Amino acid sequence: MLIDTHCHFPHEKYDQELDQIIKDSQNNDVKKLIVIGTSIENSKKTLEVVNKYNNLFATIGVYPHEDKNLSLSDIQKELENLYRKNKSKIVGIGECGIDLGNWEDGRNPDEQVELFKLQTGFAIEHDLPLVLHNRNGDKYIEEIFSKYAVFKGNKLRGVAHCYVGNWNFAKYLIDFGFYISFSGIITFPKVSSDLIDTIKKIPKERILVETDSPYLAPQKYRGQINYPKYVKIVAEAVAQIRNASYDEIAQITYKNAHNLFNIKYD
Ligand SMILES: [Zn+2]
Repeated sequence: MLIDTHCHFPHEKYDQELDQIIKDSQNNDVKKLIVIGTSIENSKKTLEVVNKYNNLFATIGVYPHEDKNLSLSDIQKELENLYRKNKSKIVGIGECGIDLGNWEDGRNPDEQVELFKLQTGFAIEHDLPLVLHNRNGDKYIEEIFSKYAVFKGNKLRGVAHCYVGNWNFAKYLIDFGFYISFSGIITFPKVSSDLIDTIKKIPKERILVETDSPYLAPQKYRGQINYPKYVKIVAEAVAQIRNASYDEIAQITYKNAHNLFNIKYD
């Protein structure tokens, strides 16, 4: 069995009913889905969906370039409000982090740091894992994490989602208590040797798999809509790279996801 630890619902890219997508996932061994919020509005929609299904869970959060019209204190209030009302379904904070890929129309790095600090603080205060989005933001993240390691007795934990970096930064995150999640990118023919090296070296207790659907379909479906059921392809790729069996990777990543997101194991 598998968990897709990172997908986006509802999404205008989907041409099928959510019911069907969720049913398809279950028929393909993907038992549970973690649906990721990207803005306050999107987090609300995400919660509406997950509240209808026993096997779906949500994270709430604001992507580095979303909700530019809201003040930080508004964002804080909205997150508090959503969390208070939906505690049993919210299993993490994010996706949030640093994205220096293209910020001309988004937040500049300083603004991103402030938004990320807010959510890091929120995660640690409520003892929720952080779903980390990182594009070229290693040095900012290290700086923020060094200040937020422990707060009121809670230790910051989380997952580096859709990891494509090198082993050095992965090792830093793992030592810090993070999990590393891989997506369909690892099935692309031009996947970097650094990333392959990282996949091989990670302790198996820290690996997660995800689709980031509807984005980033694996090679076999590249350019098409991605679905949570394809997380199986990601798990198969991890298994192949690590010279492990699919069953072993499925089993350990299923367990890891339950551990990190504090979901009842069944
Ligand atoms: Zn995402």
